[in-house]
Amino acid sequence: MDHLVFDNRFVRELPGDPSDAPHVRQVLGACYSRVQPTPVRAPELVAWSREVAAMLDLDEQDIRSPRFTQVFVGNALLPGMAPYAACYGGHQFGAWAGQLGDGRAICLGEVINSRGERLELQLKGAGPTPYARRADGRAVLRSSLREFLCSEAMHHLGVPTTRALSLIATGETVVRDMFYDGYPAPEPGAVVCRVAPSFIRFGNFEIFAARGELDVLEKLVDFTIARDFPWIEGSVPQRRAAWFIEVCERTARLIAHWMRVGFVHGVMNTDNMSILGLTIDYGPYGWIENFDRDWTPNTTDEATRRYRFGYQPRIAQWNLLQLANALYPVFGVSEPLQAGLDRYLAVFEAENRRMLADKLGMAHFDDDDATRVEALFKLMTKAELDMTIFFRQLAQLDPDAPSLAPLEEAFYSPDKRALHGPEVLAWLNDYAARLRAEGRPAQIRRAQMNAANPRYVLRNWLAQEAIDAAEKGDYSRVADTLEVMRRPYREQPGREHFASRRPDWARNRPGCSMLSCSS
Ligand code: AMP
Ligand code: MG
Repeated sequence: MDHLVFDNRFVRELPGDPSDAPHVRQVLGACYSRVQPTPVRAPELVAWSREVAAMLDLDEQDIRSPRFTQVFVGNALLPGMAPYAACYGGHQFGAWAGQLGDGRAICLGEVINSRGERLELQLKGAGPTPYARRADGRAVLRSSLREFLCSEAMHHLGVPTTRALSLIATGETVVRDMFYDGYPAPEPGAVVCRVAPSFIRFGNFEIFAARGELDVLEKLVDFTIARDFPWIEGSVPQRRAAWFIEVCERTARLIAHWMRVGFVHGVMNTDNMSILGLTIDYGPYGWIENFDRDWTPNTTDEATRRYRFGYQPRIAQWNLLQLANALYPVFGVSEPLQAGLDRYLAVFEAENRRMLADKLGMAHFDDDDATRVEALFKLMTKAELDMTIFFRQLAQLDPDAPSLAPLEEAFYSPDKRALHGPEVLAWLNDYAARLRAEGRPAQIRRAQMNAANPRYVLRNWLAQEAIDAAEKGDYSRVADTLEVMRRPYREQPGREHFASRRPDWARNRPGCSMLSCSS
């Protein structure tokens, strides 16, 4: 582990908080505060990702060493680490929330790996920082396990995301009121080590615009371009313009991916939007099982369902608008910002169409197909069809003899199957005719579909099964689940459980169908 090379540009090049006091406060004119992780009593490695370890040039021996657990739970630092918590603000549920910041996330530093790539290491749940507000800086095992597994599952699905190196139980308890019903209870605590080229969020820019700290805002903009978008060239105004457009494009691609795999982030506040267009901050996220664009996993958002599945594209656009507003004082002109927002719409539209064409196995996708898809989505909702199973199995349809047979297991309810089955079959007949008109070889169509439609996603109840076992001290289920999620597009005989419909026990079980923000 001692070979890790740190080059901590964020703290070296940006203005920091002159105070290193740990107490909670408003931090003015600074991008970060120096902090120290708070040690824990009895850390134990629960799980780790071999791919992320390899990115950091760590081998299994490094990971299994007692020192690894000590460092990546926050009990010890490696030479070169310079821990800090970032200052950011954000719009939460549509309203400006002021200073938020890394309340329980602590960046350890930026590693330069043997391939010359820059990767920030960040501990989540390693103790309070000046941004902890009234909270404890800790995280529970259940939410940490969900973040660990989902970051890696998303990566293997081909969705841009922050990564997770390790999940370490602290051996200490954390008190949480999981149902927000006035009954707080102790739960096992944990620390995840997250890894990404940058953890900068839209909210990092918004806070300085809101406070009128335009010199800091300008420094952060040019720093972000230089460190995180080094391929962008040109004069300063040209680079800033190209940068914002790229942020918009990346965000559009990200959301198209979420819509493709049925991922609902659950808390798309602007402090949870990555400047690199990565999925970040896995809280009360969820996966679409019975197709429903109005579904949100987040109980805190139950009333308005602002962050429901089908709203994600427009919420991302709204978030980009907040970012554009924050950047305006530095840009001084609105054209490049407007160009970026326009680009978001154009790229999302194009990516979404391409994604739908892939899901349906079509070479071209026109307006008639868009109408076809809209009819399908309405039907899938009415008939309660499992999104992942339906699309994966659709590749098995024979265009010359369409039938419901390959899709039977996608139905959740025998009653709805009986009621809407004929309509689904009618849709399949029309779709089959459409495929016949294109006349492409089945093999090519199936390969296209199977690369866009995963067999395995981290269904809400699969994560819960791993949590239930882990809370009893059995960590093998976490490793098994991760192993399956490493190859989501490949059939894995014997792993049918991980590809099956939500079981009845999970329908209304907290943690499976709905989640609070309590984490
Ligand atoms: P989230 O909704 O998880 O993105 O968190 C919103 C804000 O609350 C961020 O500034 C977090 O750092 C902070 N926060 C959430 N949970 C805790 C906690 N247990 N301790 C300290 N800060 C927290
Ligand atoms: Mg957050």
